[in-house]
Amino acid sequence: MSLRARTYSRSRRFFTLTHCPLCGYEFDSDESRPDHLADHNPEDAGLNPLGKIDEDHDAPLFAGGRVD
Ligand SMILES: [Zn+2]
Repeated sequence: MSLRARTYSRSRRFFTLTHCPLCGYEFDSDESRPDHLADHNPEDAGLNPLGKIDEDHDAPLFAGGRVD
């Protein structure tokens, strides 16, 4: 699990990212998560490289509601 949830007084809940979901790196308690995540490439999350767009990127997800 890469998230830790803590509940404080007045039922406030805080979530802390303990491990990077992209590479499994374990964060130190005061280490910046956004700085680490920004060093990853889109491909690390299974996305296209920057600037590369799929040919069918604007195709309807559900065939426009039609049933063929
Ligand atoms: Zn990482």
